[in-house]
Amino acid sequence: MTRHLYFDHNATTPVEPRVRDAMLPYLSDRFGNPSSITRPGREAKKAVEEAREAVARLIEASPDEIVFTSGGTEAINLALLGNPRTRPGQHGHVITVATEHPATLASVAHLEGLGFAVTRLAVTPEGRVPVVDLEGAMRPDTVLVAVMLANNETGTIQPVGELARLASDRGALFACDAVQAIGKIRVPSPALAVDYMALAGHKFYAPKGVGALYVKKGSPRPRLLFGGHQEGDMRPGTENVAGIVGLGEAARSAREHLAAGGEARQAVLRDHLWSEIQRRWPAVRRNGDPLHTLPNTLHVSFPGQDGESLVVALDLEGVHVSAGSACASGAREPSHVLTAMGIPRDLGNASLRLSLGRSTAEVDVDEMVRRLATVMERGGR
Ligand code: PLP
Repeated sequence: MTRHLYFDHNATTPVEPRVRDAMLPYLSDRFGNPSSITRPGREAKKAVEEAREAVARLIEASPDEIVFTSGGTEAINLALLGNPRTRPGQHGHVITVATEHPATLASVAHLEGLGFAVTRLAVTPEGRVPVVDLEGAMRPDTVLVAVMLANNETGTIQPVGELARLASDRGALFACDAVQAIGKIRVPSPALAVDYMALAGHKFYAPKGVGALYVKKGSPRPRLLFGGHQEGDMRPGTENVAGIVGLGEAARSAREHLAAGGEARQAVLRDHLWSEIQRRWPAVRRNGDPLHTLPNTLHVSFPGQDGESLVVALDLEGVHVSAGSACASGAREPSHVLTAMGIPRDLGNASLRLSLGRSTAEVDVDEMVRRLATVMERGGR
């Protein structure tokens, strides 16, 4: 049987066995509602609060700064659209970046529809936002700046600490999509000086459909949904107890992974993958900023190849990766991220995103390159 080689951890990760084990009791006997004062309710409430502490510890926050959500998209929407400074009837200017995730870009477009002025900052060819560009874009009426920590496609890391301090000095709030960074690199919320930070469980070995928003103490408290008083009045609705427990256990596991040097190990393996690819295909081009990048992500273009065909052919060989392009209205278009970086259309369409995980080993990398060579020799099909 073909051994499956999963190189798509930026799309999603498997649920770690210890995470699943921690969740199971909350899918059977421990089914209480955390809002109930009965014993089952108190048990569930305790589990939710322990998970809150674990998530807070991972990002060096305090537990009362963590609001559980249904994932990254909801956390981002909550910060941007549920914000007291951006509610309908308010006015002002919002700044974001052209390479953000659609959860941010679509939320900001919604604000634009409500009458907010919007600036979408350009990026360098490596995908970074120069701090001076944010400085130049800030206006006296800028209410909110939204910049991600690490890009999901290229892995490029933004200078969020500097950007957030600049925004704060000018009286604007700063929201950060840290969905791809959490669990892969250290993300110390106080040092980053952001007001809001979104995270999603399924990017770091918890299940899909659970995430959180960090809301800095003293920053305006967002609210998007209306209902009960759960999550400090910021996110009403009966909690996804099992999912939250899983998120907490995944946060503990991520902390251990980082404390044990997991980040450096991933980078070594990713660099090995890159050198093997370069050795076999000297014309290959690496996209992103190698100096400021996630340790698990490699984004490459193979001139003359078609990325989507490679993804399909590799899939048949048991290798699972992502392409840097998608079919938009019948024509193949590079992603908005690659386009914003000025990568020519043919190179963008010839690209692959390879994202490693904690269980990826050197033998997997070598086998992956071997199967890629098989596919290339067949002409990419
Ligand atoms: N932000 C980034 C950078 C992402 O990569 C993703 C998921 O792909 C999201 C936000 C959305 O998170 P979720 O899938 O939990 O809604």
